[in-house]
Amino acid sequence: MQKDAGQIELLGLDRQELATLVESAGEPSYRARQIAEAVYRQRVESVAEISTLSQQLRAKLEEDGVLVGAPRIDRRFVSLDGTVRYLSAFADGQSVETVWMPEGDGGEAGDGSEAGEQAERFANLSPSGTEAQLDDHEESIAALKRSATQKPRRSQGQNQGRSTICISSQVGCAVDCQFCLTALLGVKRNLTAGEIVGQVCAVLKDQNVSPPEDRINLVFMGMGEPFLNYENFVKAARLLVEEVGIAERRMTVSTAGIVPRIHEFGGERVRPKLAISLNASNDALRTRLMPLNKKWNLEMLMDAARVYPLRTREWITFEYVLLGGVNDAPENAREVAELLKGMRCKVNLIALNPGPGIEFATPQAERVAEFQTILREAGIPAFVRRPRGRDIYAACGQLKRTVEIATAPAP
Ligand code: SAH
Repeated sequence: MQKDAGQIELLGLDRQELATLVESAGEPSYRARQIAEAVYRQRVESVAEISTLSQQLRAKLEEDGVLVGAPRIDRRFVSLDGTVRYLSAFADGQSVETVWMPEGDGGEAGDGSEAGEQAERFANLSPSGTEAQLDDHEESIAALKRSATQKPRRSQGQNQGRSTICISSQVGCAVDCQFCLTALLGVKRNLTAGEIVGQVCAVLKDQNVSPPEDRINLVFMGMGEPFLNYENFVKAARLLVEEVGIAERRMTVSTAGIVPRIHEFGGERVRPKLAISLNASNDALRTRLMPLNKKWNLEMLMDAARVYPLRTREWITFEYVLLGGVNDAPENAREVAELLKGMRCKVNLIALNPGPGIEFATPQAERVAEFQTILREAGIPAFVRRPRGRDIYAACGQLKRTVEIATAPAP
């Protein structure tokens, strides 16, 4: 990718683009593989560190303005529950938040959390549900091989498929959901594919873990709306699968409901699982909480979800942020059940994570439980997500440029 004044960043380039780059430097095309391995697997931070290339070639690439383009980890906050929030900074001084959850995000299948495991069991009820068991078997064998041949890594015994990285897709967000802190920033710019992938590489390096040996789950649920930065998001997802080695079924992208992109996404060759932020049970309420509902209302959203081409053992996740006294009544739960009737889906219930400038309240625990019961009794799998890293503002909807909240009172 061409940056200012002739600079080229390697992070974000796919094999084809790397081949073009090395060929234009008069080098054989296998150099593209060496560079990809160094950047995406070893996670080098400078061209000088790519030890498979000759000194001469490294010097030439540097002279030509070629950089790795890894984000700088500017700050790091560690929560009492083990969650780590990173501030990843880019060359132009903009930064985003990236979150590491050592025990999953409490809701996505495959993250090893209680809710995730329940969801996997639910999926395994389907007749063709042997895929996960096979995957697990292969992963156990890979782990055994690794422990026989390599020095123990920090992750062993600690990181048994539970870790989840939550990444950002834009600096800020344009969607303006009324309960979300990121919305208060507005959108500053899109992230490039390299900046999206770079967040993952930086966190993997910092945590000293490596997929596929370590099971890493990835959620595109940080700052920004991935479907409003569609091309870069899709390219990043491909690079994360094909180069970084994170399994496609361990990734989930969450959208506020950009309906045309949901349709388009169904046709992608590489496609993370889909989550849709529902957050309200009728149009009046949804328009109030999520103004984008004026453009793409519930009927359009549900139509897109219904025709979405699900793969074997796949379901759509609907997220529902519960706001005390606003959208958490039994009647709302019944309306949600009606909306989702007959769909292959599950619902993740998220109690509002509070923050400065958010006018809503966290719901009472009994309301959350009742909401879940109504959905379950209607035959819809529903899980309550445990908030992670609330004390460091790392929980859903709390991500906002750290510098801007550093002075805010503790939640
Ligand atoms: N733009 C995407 C992804 C980022 S938000 C989307 O809207 O889905 C990720 C999730 O966090 C969404 O489900 C959103 O509804 C939820 N969320 C936002 N603010 C929240 C808050 N204050 N408390 C709890 N969840 C929140």
